[in-house]
Amino acid sequence: MNETDVVIIGAGHNGLTCAAYLASAGLRVTVVERRKVVGGAAVTEEFHPGFRNSVAAYTVSLLNPKIIADLRLAEHGLKIVERRAQNFLPTPDGSYLLTGEGRSLASIAKLSRHDAEAFPLFSRQLEAIADVLRAFVLRAPPNLVEGFGAGAIRESLNALGSAGILRQLSLEQSRDLLDLFTRSAGEMLDERFENDLVKALFGFDAIVGNYASPYAAGSAYVMLHHAFGEVNGKKGVWGHAVGGMGAITQAMARAAREHGAEIRCDAGVREVIVERDRAVGVALDNGETLRAKYVASSVNPKLLYTRLIPAQALPDPFLARIGNWRNGSGTFRMNVALSALPSFTALPGDGDHLTAGIILGPSLAYMDRAFHDARTHGWSREPVVEVLIPSTLDDSLAPQGQHVASLFCQHVAPTLPDGTSWDAHREEVADLMIATVDKYAPGFAGSVVGRQSLTPLDLEREFGLLGGDIFHGALSLNQLFSARPMLGHADYRGPLKGLYHCGSGAHPGGGVTGAPGHNAAKVILSDHRALFTRRG
Ligand SMILES: Cc1cc2nc3c(=O)[nH]c(=O)nc-3n(C[C@H](O)[C@H](O)[C@H](O)COP(=O)(O)OP(=O)(O)OC[C@H]3O[C@@H](n4cnc5c(N)ncnc54)[C@H](O)[C@@H]3O)c2cc1C
Repeated sequence: MNETDVVIIGAGHNGLTCAAYLASAGLRVTVVERRKVVGGAAVTEEFHPGFRNSVAAYTVSLLNPKIIADLRLAEHGLKIVERRAQNFLPTPDGSYLLTGEGRSLASIAKLSRHDAEAFPLFSRQLEAIADVLRAFVLRAPPNLVEGFGAGAIRESLNALGSAGILRQLSLEQSRDLLDLFTRSAGEMLDERFENDLVKALFGFDAIVGNYASPYAAGSAYVMLHHAFGEVNGKKGVWGHAVGGMGAITQAMARAAREHGAEIRCDAGVREVIVERDRAVGVALDNGETLRAKYVASSVNPKLLYTRLIPAQALPDPFLARIGNWRNGSGTFRMNVALSALPSFTALPGDGDHLTAGIILGPSLAYMDRAFHDARTHGWSREPVVEVLIPSTLDDSLAPQGQHVASLFCQHVAPTLPDGTSWDAHREEVADLMIATVDKYAPGFAGSVVGRQSLTPLDLEREFGLLGGDIFHGALSLNQLFSARPMLGHADYRGPLKGLYHCGSGAHPGGGVTGAPGHNAAKVILSDHRALFTRRG
């Protein structure tokens, strides 16, 4: 039986971040990953001969700059480049919106003078609240604890620190924050803007990975969640990791290994070993066991607690609540190999707009309909699709003169309402997604020479994303901040001694941020030091 200080379940970007911080602090760390490659949902693979792409996550902004610097990811080979335009929203009939540095206002003004005047104010409001989120990203949220012990003192101090951050907001900004945490994006956008495409620009962020109408309460938070990132110091901007998202996790793996962490692929965890009330290691699918002082899990919390930990080891109320953890973000993900670049009716030919996130979903009403259709039919017959063509910024992904595109398709049901399997509908829905793009860029379908299609079921089977949930659990108010993954466990400590959460199911949630991995490492190190001080 092998012994180590920390065993980390899952080599997604958060497991790797956690490993790198712990190993650099001198702990012996072993990461065990079920797949044959590291990276989890942030991975680049060849999906068609000669064509590589980010298989799941496809664009970068949320990755925290402190983590990039601490782990020296640039020295380990990571290069992030900006898109030449941020977003392009065409309509099939020829109008469009094109945003990005120096171009958003002029493009909005062509659609609506009123909206061009309203845009800077709303952007400033969003940015002020995004700044608050940024201040919370790399710290544990206040955790609810019972009793008056050391934990209560620690959490009182944490609550004071959090209050200090919130006090930087004016009263008016605090009202904005309440709105953004509780209201629907649709309502807030209707109050401020009149043009459909301008509303759809923000509305897309409210529904991406969020199986809900843009008029659902709480969707404004999801919009905000997509606004707290930055690329190379530019706030709110989205960019591309050269070599695809796998370049991020390859660099993280190098950083972790440099400090001595061992990373084992093809090493799925069958069970967390529990002795009395303590997690003491893991049993692998191949029968091997690894003992450790600490076990950190980066997998979806419901997967951890309902499939990897014996039920009798957990308190009944905890098990009942985690059983109700809401998964299922309603997305269908495709990668396509293209013989030529698409040409959009609204803006034909090549240009900076082809480096942008191209949003096919021209109004909030369209997005609302897409959700309701998916609820009853299983998928929206007029879906919302974001097209990203990373090969316009990165020639390492496709043969010369050819291209790869990511299609991130919104509003498919996590499980189908008629009880049939997603396996029976994958190709039909993939055809629909391609036909949808073709409506905006005639000829697109004919240029597709290879494709990879991932239903919610495929995302679950391949990456352990239950219900295909890209965030490891919905970003709803009852699953956020101090309640992620549950009130009383927001401090990255699980209900068993020695067990920690270091994945997207912990604060601040999903996206390629590295933050849960960073924050969990801090807590593990502090517990480790406390143990040795007491013994010492
Ligand atoms: C389709 C899709 C598109 C997305 N687009 C973006 C985007 O463009 N930008 C962005 O910032 N975010 C995006 N996201 C979200 C983001 O990718 C995830 O939230 C994030 O990568 C999760 O990272 P993680 O390390 O917490 O978990 P994961 O990446 O899920 O890693 C968990 C790891 O645990 C492994 N594992 C599971 N079970 C076991 C087991 N029993 N034993 C051992 N290992 C196990 C898995 O194989 C996986 O490698 C997207 C996600 C998806 C799925």
